[in-house]
Amino acid sequence: MITEKLQNAINGQIAAEMWSSYLYLSMSFYMEKEGYSGMASWLKKQAAEEQEHACTMASYMMKRGGRAVLGKIDVVPTEFGTPQEVFQQVYEHECRVSKMIDELVDVASAERDKASQDFLWGFVREQVEEEATASGIVEMLKKAGAAGIYLVDSKLGERQ
Ligand code: MG
Repeated sequence: MITEKLQNAINGQIAAEMWSSYLYLSMSFYMEKEGYSGMASWLKKQAAEEQEHACTMASYMMKRGGRAVLGKIDVVPTEFGTPQEVFQQVYEHECRVSKMIDELVDVASAERDKASQDFLWGFVREQVEEEATASGIVEMLKKAGAAGIYLVDSKLGERQ
């Protein structure tokens, strides 16, 4: 059985994952409007992945006798600047999410909940990949220059 304190903390993270999904979807719509359909498609897949994270956390809590509750999702920005600025914001957002996940591990540890610590380490590892992927795209965009941006756009459009 999961403690109430940890349950509340994970529900907070579920809301944060849903907000991330909302943020990336907003970025996707923005990029589509700007004419970067590959990046828009990449961001839409990223948005779906964040919703999947929320569902994974919800089903874990239910297995542990807890309850998943969806809170209010705050509004997200609608203007994001150049492609490089967009992915810089993706990178910075993922760094903030990594911090939140680290704090959740601390809560699970304080509650002496080994199963939840084990579950959350999976997300700690996931964040290493998320940060590396986002910063890799920022680097690609820095090197690409004006014309090369369309090559990056078509490469990102290949994401499954
Ligand atoms: Mg996530």
